[in-house]
Amino acid sequence: MVEHARREYPLECCGLLSGRGREIDTIQATCNQRRSRKEFFVPLEELFAFFQGLRQSGKDHLGIYHSHPRSECLPSPRDVAEFHYQGVSYWIVSLQGEKADIGCFHWDRVGFKSVSFRVV
Ligand SMILES: [Zn+2]
Repeated sequence: MVEHARREYPLECCGLLSGRGREIDTIQATCNQRRSRKEFFVPLEELFAFFQGLRQSGKDHLGIYHSHPRSECLPSPRDVAEFHYQGVSYWIVSLQGEKADIGCFHWDRVGFKSVSFRVV
């Protein structure tokens, strides 16, 4: 995810995460249809292809990620307003600092809550 974020810098990148149970094992980089520094949108064709792939692999959709090239590792007001991936983890890669920062969030009815994660 960090590599993808750096590749697309200064634009936002985005992608989809899948795996089994609570374990994400696949990162699918997608296009950012908006080609923007401040927003992202996964093209519907790519979303559709992703879900078709899941059907073949038997994996589950577990998350979505995007980058914040120049802002902090927290969901922005736009992220909150445009959120439509309920039930899966929401990852942000921030390149604002010297080192990339990764945050994981869950939508909790009224807003995002930060959740901890472990890399295995
Ligand atoms: Zn964002």
